[in-house]
Order: sequence, then structure tokens, then C-alpha cells
Amino acid sequence: MQFENMIAFPFLFHVMTTKKGFPHPRKEVDRLKALLGIDRLYLPSQVHGSHWVLVDGEMEEAPVADALLVSVPEVCVGVLVADCVPLLVVDPHKRGLAVIHAGWRGILASIHTKVIQAMHEVFGSRVSDLVAGVGPAIGECCFEVGEDVAQLFYEMGGERHVKSKRAKFFIDLRGIIMEEWKAMGMREEHIEVSRECTFCRPDLFPSFRREREQAGRCLFLAGWKKTGRVLRENGIGFTIDR
Ligand SMILES: [Zn+2]
Repeated sequence: MQFENMIAFPFLFHVMTTKKGFPHPRKEVDRLKALLGIDRLYLPSQVHGSHWVLVDGEMEEAPVADALLVSVPEVCVGVLVADCVPLLVVDPHKRGLAVIHAGWRGILASIHTKVIQAMHEVFGSRVSDLVAGVGPAIGECCFEVGEDVAQLFYEMGGERHVKSKRAKFFIDLRGIIMEEWKAMGMREEHIEVSRECTFCRPDLFPSFRREREQAGRCLFLAGWKKTGRVLRENGIGFTIDR
């Protein structure tokens, strides 16, 4: 899957795998890299925190982080998700980007806003220039939490995105991210938000809530190419458009 608002950027390339092509991308990284023509792909060791790392293409080990930033061409970064929100933020002017794994704990720790601040510091990005994609994730239809977790979201000021129905609490994670990004000065028309709920679409997405330990992952990756060719998804693999 790809974000429509990103496809036109000639040097950017990004992809999110689905169950159809890659049910267990962690075990199939080499096949995916070969298919996409990628040599270097960095996946962090994810810990549901708010730490980000700038990747320069020289590091040996997987960084412990939930967001990776990169501006070097031919170096891809990715995160693995199953219900958590995958985010891609791109500065088309400075050619910097970030991929983010934003689960509920990471959102409470403000990973989504810390990375925007980091892009400003690292790449010199103007927040109003940033273009973002908010990927498929567990939706407010299905993301039920206990009162204790709901209380944490009330305390962070996200009460408009917590719904209580018959003593149950449901949280709209993507709504919280959107609201806080807009408050930072990101432009609504620059943000594309997927409406897909990973729990509601077992045909396409793994869901940790639904499948527990058996759940696969979606690999969400992005990078800068040296050439302007654009890779476009064709449903199972990917084709080169130009
Ligand atoms: Zn749902």
C-alpha cells in the first residue's frame, strides 16, 4: 500500500506490505529487499517508547528506537506494526524523512510530536512543509481499553478521542495524532490518513488484538532513491512506473 500524496515525490519511495504479499515480513526481509531493489534497510528494535535515531547508513546493529530518520539516499528505514499506527513524515524540500511506530504507549510518550521537533532540528525542516501519511491501524471501532488507560489519555488532553460506550472505552489513536500535529503547525491538507482498521480487515492486515502471538506484522518502509524512478504497488508485488 502507498499514500497517494507521496507517490508523486520522485526521489521518495515507500511501501507498506500487506498479508497478501508478505504475511511475515520479518522472516522475509531478504526477499522483500530483492523485490524492491534495496541494499540497505534498517529496522529498529522497537520498545514502545519515544526515542528516535538518525540513520546514516554506517551503523552495524539495529538501533533501539521507535522512529528512524534518514536523509542519505539508498538507505531505507522501516518499522513493523500489527495494530500500532505506522507514520511516515517527509520533508520534500530538505529530503529528510521519518518512519514511526506509534502504539498507544508511544503516543502517550509523544513520539509523534517529538519526531516532528527532531526533523526541525536535524534537517532544518519547517513544520508547515512536512507531508505525512498515517497508515492502517486499529481503529476507534475496535481499540477498546480499560478505564486506567482511558484515564491516561484524558490526562494528556486527548478526551475528544476517547469514547465511552456502556462502561467501555474506545480510543481513536489516529485522531489524537492528527489533532496534535495540526496544533504544531502541520497543514491538514498535507496529511493523508488511512481509514482502514487492522482489526476489521483480517484479509489484509495482521492484528495483535485479533491474532495475539500468532499475529504477523506489516512492514512499513521508506527511503530516498538516487534516481527519480517511482515504484508503484500492483497488489502483490511492485512495478516500476517510470
Ligand atoms: Zn475496527
